[in-house]
Amino acid sequence: MRRPGRHFLQIPGPSPVPDRILRAMDYPTVDHRGPGFAELTRKTTQGMQSIFKCRGPVVIFPSSGTGAWEAALVNTLTPGDKALMVETGHFASVWAQLGQRLSIQTERIETDWRRGADPDLIEDCLKKDRRHQIKALCVVHNETSTGALSRIAEIRQSIDAIHHPALLLVDTISGLASAEFCVDEWGVDVAIAGSQKGLMLPPGLAFNAISEKALAVSKNNAYPRAYWAWSEMIKANQNGAFPYTPATNLLYGLAESIDMLHEEGLEQVFARHQRLAEASRRAVATWGFETQCLEPDEHSPVLTAVRLPHGHNADHFRQVVLQRFDMSLGSGLGKITGKVFRIGHLGDCNDLMLMGALSGIEMGLSVAGVPYQPGGVDTAMGYLAATAK
Ligand SMILES: *Cc1c(COP(=O)(O)O)cnc(C)c1O
Repeated sequence: MRRPGRHFLQIPGPSPVPDRILRAMDYPTVDHRGPGFAELTRKTTQGMQSIFKCRGPVVIFPSSGTGAWEAALVNTLTPGDKALMVETGHFASVWAQLGQRLSIQTERIETDWRRGADPDLIEDCLKKDRRHQIKALCVVHNETSTGALSRIAEIRQSIDAIHHPALLLVDTISGLASAEFCVDEWGVDVAIAGSQKGLMLPPGLAFNAISEKALAVSKNNAYPRAYWAWSEMIKANQNGAFPYTPATNLLYGLAESIDMLHEEGLEQVFARHQRLAEASRRAVATWGFETQCLEPDEHSPVLTAVRLPHGHNADHFRQVVLQRFDMSLGSGLGKITGKVFRIGHLGDCNDLMLMGALSGIEMGLSVAGVPYQPGGVDTAMGYLAATAK
C-alpha cells in the first residue's frame, strides 16, 4: 500500500541519510587500485582525524560498529588479559559479551542502566588492581539503549590520578559527530565509531582512532589477527590504498559527510543536538513520563529514552505509531524491552523534523490509549521558538 510523504526514521541509528550524501554516493564504482583513489583515502582518513580531534591514525573498516569493537580488543589485548568494563546499558553489555567470546577476562562494574559510567567507582576499582592486571578500561560514551552520556574526560582524570597504565577504549559509535568528543584532549587510546549514526551515512563503515600508546601496544600484542590488523591497514593507507577492497561508495559519502559537518561547524552541530534533546525532554516531562536516564548532567544529546507508565507496553505503542503515522521509534533493548521507547534526534535533524516526531508521539499516545498529560508538543515548540536565533 502506498504511504504518502516521507517515512519518519526517528530511531537512534541508523539515522536518516541526507540527499546530499545520497547524491555523493550515486557514482559508478571505481578501481580502488586506480590512480584517483589515493586522494579519497587521504581525504577520508585525514578528514576523520578532524572529526575525532586526533593526530594519530584513524583506520576505516568496511564493517558494522561491532567490527570496530572487535578490532579495538584484538589489537590491544591477548586471550586471558583482563578488561574492566562498565555496564551502562545494553550496548556496554553486548561489548563485554563479545570480549568474553574473544577470551578476554571481563570484570564488570554494574549500574542500574539509568546513568553514565561513574569516574569515582572506576578509580576505586583500578586502585584495587595494585598489580596492574587490568590492561584496558572499556566505556561506552553514548549508551544508545538508555540515553546516558559518560564523562570521558573525568574518567581519564581518574585513571591518571592513580597512575594506572590501562588503555582507555571508548565506544563512541552513537556519540561521534553528535556529542562533543576529543580523542587527544581526553586521552582516549582507542575510539570506536560507526557510519550510521552522527555521520549520517548508511551502515557499513566502522572506525578506530588510535593513540600512540595503543599503537605501540598493538605492535607487541600476541593476539593473532588478520582482517582487523591495524598495522596492515595503516601501512596500506600510507600509500593511499587499503589491504582489501574498501567500501568505495560509502567512502564518497563519508567525504561528503565530513565536508557537511565542517560547513555547519562541529560546535554548532553539538549545540543543535543539545537543543533538540532539551526540547524532547521538556515534552516528555510535560506528558508526565520519566526519561530512562536520571542524571541531569548525563542526558544524551543524541536520543531520549522514555519510560511508559507501568502496564503499558512500549513495543505496542511503537507499533501503533508506525502503523498510524509511518514513524519508526527505537525499541527498548535488553532488560528494558517493552518498558521504554527511544526518540532519535541525531544526525540530519532540524526543529521541524523533531516537532513532527514529537507530534506523532503525542497523537500516538492518544490513539494507543496510554494515559498522559497533553501539551508536550506545545512545551517543545515554546522552547524551540524561545531559543531560535
Ligand atoms: C549502534 C551501536 C553499536 C552497534 O553498532 P553496529 O553497527 O550495529 O554493529 C554499538 N554501540 C553503540 C553505543 C551503538 O549505538
